[in-house]
Amino acid sequence: MTEKPTMIAFQDVHKYYGDYHALRGITATIRAGEFFSLLGPSGCGKTTLLRTIAGFEGISSGAVMIDERNMAGVPANQRPTNMVFQSYAIFPHLTVGENVGFGLRRAGLSKPELATRVGEALEMVGLKGYGDRAAHALSGGQRQRVALARALILKPKVLLLDEPLSALDKKMREQMQVELIRLQRQVGITFILVTHDQEEALVMSDRIAVMFEGEITQLADPETLYRRPNSRKVANFIGTMNFLPAMILAEGAGKIEVEAKGFGKLTLDAEQAPGGGQASAEGAAIGFRPETLTILFDGQTASDRETMAVIEEVVYFGDMTYYDVKLDGCDAPVRISMRNVFGRPVLDIGTRTRVAWSPGALVLFR
Ligand code: ATP
Repeated sequence: MTEKPTMIAFQDVHKYYGDYHALRGITATIRAGEFFSLLGPSGCGKTTLLRTIAGFEGISSGAVMIDERNMAGVPANQRPTNMVFQSYAIFPHLTVGENVGFGLRRAGLSKPELATRVGEALEMVGLKGYGDRAAHALSGGQRQRVALARALILKPKVLLLDEPLSALDKKMREQMQVELIRLQRQVGITFILVTHDQEEALVMSDRIAVMFEGEITQLADPETLYRRPNSRKVANFIGTMNFLPAMILAEGAGKIEVEAKGFGKLTLDAEQAPGGGQASAEGAAIGFRPETLTILFDGQTASDRETMAVIEEVVYFGDMTYYDVKLDGCDAPVRISMRNVFGRPVLDIGTRTRVAWSPGALVLFR
C-alpha cells in the first residue's frame, strides 16, 4: 500500500497561555483520508492542538501546515477545516434542514441546489427525510448527526471532532462510533478526533497520538499502542498492564537478555523494548496484558512456558473473569483475564494453579 499524502504537519509547535506551556514542541504528520485521534488525560493539550488546526488558537512558535500551506495568519473561516463541537451548537428555533444548510446560506446557491445539498448531507448521517422537523425536538444522537451534517455540507478537507460523543449514553455512543467510521470511509476526508476515552480511540482510529503534558508520547496505530506501548504511562493509559521488576543482563545483535521476577531468565527481541534505551529511575520492568496469561486446568498443557501461581482474588464480569494471582517467586500482584466460554471456571481463592505465558507477549520498560 502506498502511503497517503500528508494533510496536516505540525512542526515543533509550542503554545503558551501566559506562563503556562500548554504545547511543548509537537512534531507530527496526519495523512490525507486518515481517521486520526488525539488521546490523553484531561489537561494534556489535545483540545488546544485541535484548535490550532482550526485557527481558533494561535501558536507561540513552530508551524501548522495544512495541505502543504503554512497556516500562520490564516483566519479560521479561510481554512479548509470544519469543527464539530461537544455541545453541538444547534439552533433550536430552526428546522433540521435550516440548521444543516446554515453555513451555505451565503454561498449563492439556488433554492433547489441548497435543498439537494441539505438532502445529501442528511442522508449521509442517516437522517433522510428529517429536513422539516424542528431541531429542538431531536434526541441527543440526532442532534449529533445534525451537527455532523452541518459540518460535512461545507465539504471541508479536514473534519475536526472535539469529544463529539461524550454527551451520549454508552449504547448510543457505541452506535455513533460505528457510524462515524462508516461515514469517514464513505466521504474519505481526514477526520481528527479529540477524546480522553482510550476504547473510543482504539475502536475508531487508523492512528492515535497519545499526549501527556503538552507532548506526544507515542504516535502509532491502535495495535502497536496496545501491544508495544513505548512507556509505562502509555501502557497504563491504554488498557491494563501488569508489571514485574526485571534486570537487564546483556544485550546485542537485536536481542535483550533479562531476568524477570516470576518468569526467570528470558531472551527478548529488541522490538519488545519500544521505548528505546533510556534507563528510568524506577528500574526496568517487564509488562504484559492480562489476557496474555492463561490459567491451566487439569490436563491442559502450555503451548509455550508455564509457571505456578496462587489465586488471590476472583472477579466475575459475565463474559470475562479476572483472577489476581501471585506468581511463585514474585510479590507483585498479576491480573489474568479469561473469557468465560464454557461458563465460569470454579477456582477458589488460595488455590495453587499452573499459569501459561509466552515471552513474545512481554514488553520491556527500562
Ligand atoms: P480536556 O480533556 O479537559 O479538555 P485537554 O487535553 O483538551 O483537556 P486543553 O483544553 O488543551 O486540554 O488544555 C491544556 C491546558 O491548557 C490545561 O491545563 C488548560 O487549563 C490550559 N488552557 C486551555 N485553554 C486555556 C486558556 N484559554 N487560557 C489559559 N489556559 C488554558
